[in-house]
Amino acid sequence: MSELRFDELRGEHVDYAIHRQDRTFLPARDHCPLDPTRPGGPKTEIPFPAFEIAVFDNRFPAFEAPLGAAEVVVYTDQHDGSFATLSPGRAEALMWVWRHRYQELGARDDIDYVLIFENRGVEVGVTLHHPHGQIYGYPFLPPVPAHEIAADERLGGCAPCALMRSELDDGRRILYEDDGVVVYVPYAARWAYEAHVTLRAHRASLLDCEPAELRMLSEALQALVRGYDLLFDRPFPYVMVVHQAPTITPALPASTASPASPGAGAGHLHVEFYPPLRTADKLKYLAGSEQGAGTFISDTLPEESAAALREAIARAA
Ligand SMILES: [Zn+2]
Ligand SMILES: [Zn+2]
Ligand SMILES: [Zn+2]
Repeated sequence: MSELRFDELRGEHVDYAIHRQDRTFLPARDHCPLDPTRPGGPKTEIPFPAFEIAVFDNRFPAFEAPLGAAEVVVYTDQHDGSFATLSPGRAEALMWVWRHRYQELGARDDIDYVLIFENRGVEVGVTLHHPHGQIYGYPFLPPVPAHEIAADERLGGCAPCALMRSELDDGRRILYEDDGVVVYVPYAARWAYEAHVTLRAHRASLLDCEPAELRMLSEALQALVRGYDLLFDRPFPYVMVVHQAPTITPALPASTASPASPGAGAGHLHVEFYPPLRTADKLKYLAGSEQGAGTFISDTLPEESAAALREAIARAA
């Protein structure tokens, strides 16, 4: 069981998932728990000899019912590869799996926020190399999406819509765009090669997307990560997160709920990437200013990293 405590000084939750100390750590190639269970082979987390995309409860959950959820999403039964090397059809199918999990977890009374994410590379603490992501269902609205809702209120409208428009007007940090999505290094990026993949139309969540938008989203995500891998000619570590509308179930009927309270509807689907590399072999560490003041210090201008990354994305296409 995990234990949730509230840090009054910071006004934020901390989750204690003690059992996670025992979780599988970088197992040998032939003992991968995310491989299919092959006839005569070791028993894995997935009791089938082959599969396309598998979703199951995390055996070492940070959150679990009746106070949230933690799931693992395995992208393929092939051990080697990454999100970038999935076939276009599989990447598109993954968008539908994400959408289904958002719908199902978000409908639960105990889940106020669904975060789909992927950690890639030992640099960001990955313990299994098999291509996979995770989903957490939080029993509260976490600080980062709460900040984004506060930005909507501060700007008097949808913040991702407004920021995307100003990126398109400026143009220097745009990495990729089509009819459905816009990809850019944000004006105030915290990480040198941070990128945001934003739906061009206002879509609160994956549930509001047209099928063609889900296809374009998967194409943009793959174009970006292929560009990342080409940039320094090495597998590019990153943290990827999908931000969508909170799934808070109103305690009161909608007619009496305060319009200011964040609920379903507030939010604009976008995917954020936080890569820790500053150069091919230098990592950005969160140190005094970042940890103690909450202020990022960066030695690269977003316009410069965007130019290099845009060129790598074009070369990878
Ligand atoms: Zn594997
Ligand atoms: Zn919007
Ligand atoms: Zn966001």
